[in-house]
Amino acid sequence: MKATLVLTSTLLALACLPALRADKKEQDHGHEHKVAGPNGGRVLHSVEPHCEFFVRADRKLQITFLGEDGKAIAPAAQTVSAIGGERSKPTKFSFTKTANTLVSDVALPEGNKVPIVITIKSKPDATPAVEKFAVDLSDCPTCDYREYACTCDHEH
Ligand SMILES: [Zn+2]
Ligand SMILES: [Zn+2]
Repeated sequence: MKATLVLTSTLLALACLPALRADKKEQDHGHEHKVAGPNGGRVLHSVEPHCEFFVRADRKLQITFLGEDGKAIAPAAQTVSAIGGERSKPTKFSFTKTANTLVSDVALPEGNKVPIVITIKSKPDATPAVEKFAVDLSDCPTCDYREYACTCDHEH
């Protein structure tokens, strides 16, 4: 009789243990720290290595691939193309290697908020990564970057 009681209370104690916490590493992974690229552009995370999308002063688009430390690295076999602007008369961009970056042949069309779709392939026959967003060139009121590269948590 006494042995049964002890066993019962042991089982109860086990049942009362808090549920195991979800793996901590897994939780941390969900939080991607927002950092701007080395030129103050937007970091595109859908490709490995990541790359920075940056609008130059002449409104040409510049893609810079980034190493693990976030610093610029020379492009390897990547190819980039983009299409943007008004749906009725879109602008097509092709990119060629200039120094250690890929630069578009044409400038971003007029406007302070230009929709764009960028297609990046790690090599010519690879599955493309596609990034779609609005290139919002207005200055963010709360960080040092333009809104397309903003590192704040607010909605855009
Ligand atoms: Zn912002
Ligand atoms: Zn900001």
